[in-house]
Amino acid sequence: MIFVPADPAPAPTAGAGRYAPSPSGDLHLGNLRTALLAWLFARHSGRRFVLRVDDLDRVRPGAAERQLADLATIGLDWDGPVQRQSERVAHYAAAIDTLTAAGRTYECFCTRREIQQAATAPHGPMGAYPGTCRTLTAAARARHLADGRPAALRLRAEISDFEITDDLHGRYRGAVDDLVLRRGDGLPAYNLAVVVDDAAQGVDQVVRGDDLLPSTPRQAYLATLLDLPVPHYAHVPLALNTAGQRLAKRDGAVTLADRIALGNTPEDVVGVLAGSLGYTASSPAQLLDRFDPARLPREPWIVDENRLLRPEEGP
Ligand code: GLU
Repeated sequence: MIFVPADPAPAPTAGAGRYAPSPSGDLHLGNLRTALLAWLFARHSGRRFVLRVDDLDRVRPGAAERQLADLATIGLDWDGPVQRQSERVAHYAAAIDTLTAAGRTYECFCTRREIQQAATAPHGPMGAYPGTCRTLTAAARARHLADGRPAALRLRAEISDFEITDDLHGRYRGAVDDLVLRRGDGLPAYNLAVVVDDAAQGVDQVVRGDDLLPSTPRQAYLATLLDLPVPHYAHVPLALNTAGQRLAKRDGAVTLADRIALGNTPEDVVGVLAGSLGYTASSPAQLLDRFDPARLPREPWIVDENRLLRPEEGP
């Protein structure tokens, strides 16, 4: 089965790294740090660096523009136009059609509650879809449709786990279930879109938060089914608040705009991010000169908003 992305071919030269924020609000320091790391990994390895806006859902008006402006303000640059998922639904549909034509999909009428209540297969991964609709009879399917139940489209996976290699985590084997390709509301699923998009942009290096590590075997498996290359991965530690929870806007002055309102300069903020990585630098370019991926902290970055650089302290 050959799926040919109908995009213009990416530049035949070096591959690319990328950053792909969801425009659900302003980027906080943890997001900026991940973006900085993605940029550093890409530039350090001579790759292009591209941006993608994951705007299939959870979109807050104006957020994407502010996110891109913040990335530029801290000194990150990128190559070529910013890709927007909302403009690419035809490509996701084409990939889904390819999988369907190869007999690799099925409709699923389960509600979230039904999935939670169904016992997971004895050796299946925790929370994996138990395959309820895999063998639905035509009559049952017709009944669901007549009831007006929305149908999601799932992958008919032929394996239950898949191994990837990650620069920070080494060999990582994780669950692959019959993941959703198209949601009940008709939107393409994130796991599908990300695979199609990375290939279309020539992305061969994925650097992102390690909350996405468990999804990666699914995405890599999907890439192989679509005859797309599996990228290199580096899942970097997240930023946490002092209570050990994932950093969020409620944790105080943690966005670039918040920091600037307090009197920090963008260079101060880059200095804080660099410090969290064990470096002293006030621009990404300066940091790039010294960047060594092998030296990266492997622990989460704990952000105590009250102890971040205050302007009166000076750089
Ligand atoms: N848009 C996703 C997020 O912000 C990240 C996608 C990815 O890096 O693969 O969580």
